This record gives sequence, C-alpha cells and structure tokens, in this order.
Amino acid sequence: MRILKINLGDRTYPIYIEVDSFSNVAKEILRYCDAKTFIIITDENVATHYFEKLKQPLEHIGVKCYLNKIAPGEESKSLTTAEQIYTWMLANHFHRNDVIIALGGGVVGDLAGFIAATYLRGIRWVQIPTTLMAQVDSSVGGKVGVNHPLAKNSIGAFYQPQLVWIDPMTLKTLPQREIYNGLAEVIKYGLILDSELFEFLEANFNKILSLDNWEILIHVIRTCCRLKAMVVEQDERESDYRRILNFGHTIGHALESITEYRHFRHGEAVAWGILAAAAISEKKSNLPDEQFHRIQNVISRLEKPDLTSNITIDDIMQSIQSDKKITQEGLQFVYLEGIGKCHVKLIDLELIEYGIDYILSPTKLKIS
Ligand code: ADP
Ligand code: ZN
Repeated sequence: MRILKINLGDRTYPIYIEVDSFSNVAKEILRYCDAKTFIIITDENVATHYFEKLKQPLEHIGVKCYLNKIAPGEESKSLTTAEQIYTWMLANHFHRNDVIIALGGGVVGDLAGFIAATYLRGIRWVQIPTTLMAQVDSSVGGKVGVNHPLAKNSIGAFYQPQLVWIDPMTLKTLPQREIYNGLAEVIKYGLILDSELFEFLEANFNKILSLDNWEILIHVIRTCCRLKAMVVEQDERESDYRRILNFGHTIGHALESITEYRHFRHGEAVAWGILAAAAISEKKSNLPDEQFHRIQNVISRLEKPDLTSNITIDDIMQSIQSDKKITQEGLQFVYLEGIGKCHVKLIDLELIEYGIDYILSPTKLKIS
C-alpha cells in the first residue's frame, strides 16, 4: 500500500493507493472517521460495480450505510441535485457526526464534497475516486462545487476530506474514453512539473492504456497526486502558484464552453488546449523545437474528437474573453519553458489567437 500525505496544517490528510483494496477500506475509514453512520453518494454506473463492495465490509464492522445514487453525468452537478440530497439527508436526520463517502468520478466528488462542506455548516467526508481523471487530479486539493446555468464550477468551496482512497482496479470497468480523458491531465503534470513523468508516459503509453500492469499505473497516479499535493500545499486556495495547474485549460475551457459541454470530455478539450499552449510556448518562451515535437506526438496518441469546422477562432476568443479568470490587467497564461518547467505571465490576445490558429489548421498538425 502507498500512502501520501497532504500537509495542510489541521486539514492534513492521507491519500491511500492500493490495488483491489475494497476489503481494507472500511477499517481505514473508521481509523480516520470515528462514526456510526456513513452516507454513500455515488452514481448509478459506479453503484452497479462498487456499492456492495464498499458497503459489506463497512456493515461487517457494525456501522450503518445509507445510499444516495445520482444520475451519471455533468447535469447532476447542480444546485437542484444538491437540494434533493439535502432534503433526503434532513428527512433522515443525518447529523454532524455522520460522514459522507463520495464514491465515483469528478462529478460525484465535486457534488458530494460540496454537500459535505455545506450540510449543517460542514460534516466530514471521504473520497473514493473511480475515474482516472479523479484519481490523478480532481480528488486532490479540496476543490468542491456545482455548476450554475450561467457558469460551470462557479458555486463551490475549498473543503478537504478526511481521507482519499484510490483503488486503481476500479479503472478496469471504466470506458476507455475516460482513460484518455484522465491521461490528458497526467500529460499536463509531466509538462509543467516533471520531465521524468513525461518520459515515463512516452515510454509506457500503451501499457498504461491496457491497464494490465498495476505498478505502472500506481506510479502514474502516485506521481500526479504527489505533484498536485506539492502545489496545493504551497497555495491551497489558488491565489498564486496553484495557477500553473491551469496549463492547457484557457483554450480547453473555451472549447468545452462553445460546444456546450457536449462535444468534448474535459480532458479531451484540455489536450487540444495543451497543444495550443505548447505552440505558443515554442513561439514565445523558448520551448525547444524538439520538445515541441515530442509534445505533439504524445497529444496525437490521445484519442479525442476533432476540432470541427463549426469551431471558429472568433468563438473561442469570445469565450476566453468572457471567462471568469480574465481580470482588468489581462489574462494570466501558463507557458512552458521546456518539458517539466513552466511559468505564468500575462499574455497578449494575438498570441492566444496564434495558438488557436495552430490547432485549427490541420496541415500544421502533421507529426514529423
Ligand atoms: P470525471 O471524473 O471525468 O469528472 P464522471 O464523474 O463524469 O467523470 O464519470 C464519467 C463516467 O464514468 C460516468 O458515466 C460515470 O458513471 C462513469 N464511471 C465512473 N467511474 C467508473 C468506474 N470505475 N467504472 C465504470 N464507470 C465509471
Ligand atoms: Zn482539468
């Protein structure tokens, strides 16, 4: 078993990573959360595979488990679903000592964490992420929240769990598209902070995809969690350093938004955003040509929807300019100086246009 710690003063907590470990999770949860009642929030797909596996050992120890299943998909990450769950929790008289377990991907984690942060002004929670995206990224760092019809992820909090438990075996039942989705964030971590991780990905790409070598997967998950922990420990509430995690996300978010979150999974849009940001970095911040080609190569190995002809520069630019992250001074952009090294600086909008033009021009995407 691998254990990492996120050091955040009195909000410090561990991340466990262990393959095929549902039978062990109950006693560890009890170690960190002494409670009699657990509220398992999950979605219908995840419940089919893992609810019983989680519930049985917990009940065996003598605690009570309640289940709330949401519909799978981003639409459930809403104030409406949150309200339904509050109502159910109040009707069942769940109180301050009870603990929420978020069992699922990013949607379940963000929603259940938000409910934990707000129900009776905050109750304890445990996260068991079951998608690659959640295991390498969204379950670490305490960002929880729901979408508002006017803006995604705009209602939320920073609220750390008591414990994160990662069982990479859960990836076996995940659709392959979701593996590619999570891999985009793994590539991001290699590019901004860890050239060795990037080299490891280049060398082991197919083995990661085939999900049959657990040491390789554990290495990838553990490295991403460690890198994210390091960033979050320095800047828990994204006032400064944590912004580097937005690498590839400026253009990625715009792509998601103009296609109304229906065309791309988050990681797929971010993969395109990473490619654009690398092109910009090659032009403006000395990213060596040879490294840029390696980035192109890895991104081309990620299966993702193409950028269709109804996605235009103008639409993307408009979306970027209305983004909540743009301030009066302008837009902060994450540049690569080389693989594993980045910095954040204000960017001219023409340069963003250059990056978008790059990814929208199929002839430029030929890999040499
Ligand atoms: P993300 O972590 O990318 O935000 P979601 O929470 O939206 O992802 O989950 C993506 C999809 O995968 C959902 O349909 C969800 O029900 C499903 N899912 C999550 N984890 C698993 C798993 N381990 N096995 C099978 N399906 C899963
Ligand atoms: Zn992301």
